[in-house]
Amino acid sequence: MYYDPEIETMERGRLEALQSERLVRQVERVYRTSPFYRKKFDEVGVKPEDIKGLEDVARLPFVTKDELRQAQEAEGRFGGLACAEPAAWRELHPSSGTTGRSVYTLWTARDVEAITDFTARLLWSQGVRPGDTIQNAFSYGLWVAGLAVHYAAGRLGCFVVPIGATQSARQVDLFHEWRPTVFFSTPSFALYLVEKLQEQGVSGSELALRIGSFGGEAGAEVAATRRRLEEGLGIDAYDIYGLAEIGPTMAAECQCKDGLHWTEDHHLIEVVDRNTGEPVPEGEEGVIVITHLTREGTPMIRYWTNDIGRLVKEPCRCGRTHARSPGGILGRADDIIIYKGVNFYPSQVEDVVRSIPEISDEFRIRLEVNPYGRDICTLVAEVLQAGSEAAVRQKLAARLREALGVGLEIELVALNSLERTAFKARRVLDMRPKLAS
Ligand SMILES: [Zn+2]
Repeated sequence: MYYDPEIETMERGRLEALQSERLVRQVERVYRTSPFYRKKFDEVGVKPEDIKGLEDVARLPFVTKDELRQAQEAEGRFGGLACAEPAAWRELHPSSGTTGRSVYTLWTARDVEAITDFTARLLWSQGVRPGDTIQNAFSYGLWVAGLAVHYAAGRLGCFVVPIGATQSARQVDLFHEWRPTVFFSTPSFALYLVEKLQEQGVSGSELALRIGSFGGEAGAEVAATRRRLEEGLGIDAYDIYGLAEIGPTMAAECQCKDGLHWTEDHHLIEVVDRNTGEPVPEGEEGVIVITHLTREGTPMIRYWTNDIGRLVKEPCRCGRTHARSPGGILGRADDIIIYKGVNFYPSQVEDVVRSIPEISDEFRIRLEVNPYGRDICTLVAEVLQAGSEAAVRQKLAARLREALGVGLEIELVALNSLERTAFKARRVLDMRPKLAS
């Protein structure tokens, strides 16, 4: 049932005591070894001895991606962040740099071991077992999850096809020839492969796949997307979460599909108000803030992920006690769309799009300002059959208004007009003039 029963089902009080102990040790260590943290803590007047347990964590300042980027640009390499001797260094992981300069992080030998172990634990919780064949279409270079899953698959005694996030035709061939039972990729790429399979007239039930685990972007926990993945590939689809800047596979859904389970023995998770930075009550939405409790190389202390989620601490039906984020990542703090006074996330639009069988899975949300200065938000979707536009438009308009509380403009285009991606899809096109700052 469990990969590591003692840790996974640890009574909440004991788990938090373990987190407290690890937090105190980590804060002391980063202050002693990292000029970056020493300066940050000194600036707000916090000494390691002020941090006696979890109750003191809010005294520590947040770390942001911009700050890491600036420190590394100014000082080179890790920007004073590395906390381990070079002899212990094992792997360099630059973030993908899709939104500016890469941020460099470091895994030591012990980090590699810990990452392998907790990733194996998460895979096990999704039903991966020794003897499974895993087709790993997570990128091996740009995104840390590729290697983490690879190492964990080895640890579990699985057979791995390390193809990475490329070559859709070959991915499909491998499904047929090597009959993998487990598949890893972004949800966007998997949906693209579903389209390819459907073009060949192949249904999910003809494949050997049993489990699909999807990360790199939200989506697997969007109900309509999950359904399309499960039907298209003949699998149970699960969400798995990591972040290029701070680490792979920190959380994953178990077989109950009831939110991302965090690996709380290694990561301290807080949810804070996006404007004030104050903790929100348990179960409410806010920005997820993560502290590495055990990372040696480049530990993050209160890293501001900019990802929005919730956190609940009641034990899951699976018996695991580690806290969960129901619904997964709900959006990025900077992705929130405010239109005609209503707030919504792109994932809510995604849920509507993928619940309508007459359109494809691909879409764009275009934000622009018309000549009279009015905001216009348009959903661009691909209609599967020419001639059905009027009916599709009407259905889409009604569903969007119901789900978002506001109507969007709708533009229907022919199938395959929108570009598909193997990595992270960019579906919001913001064409509004930028305000000078
Ligand atoms: Zn569970």
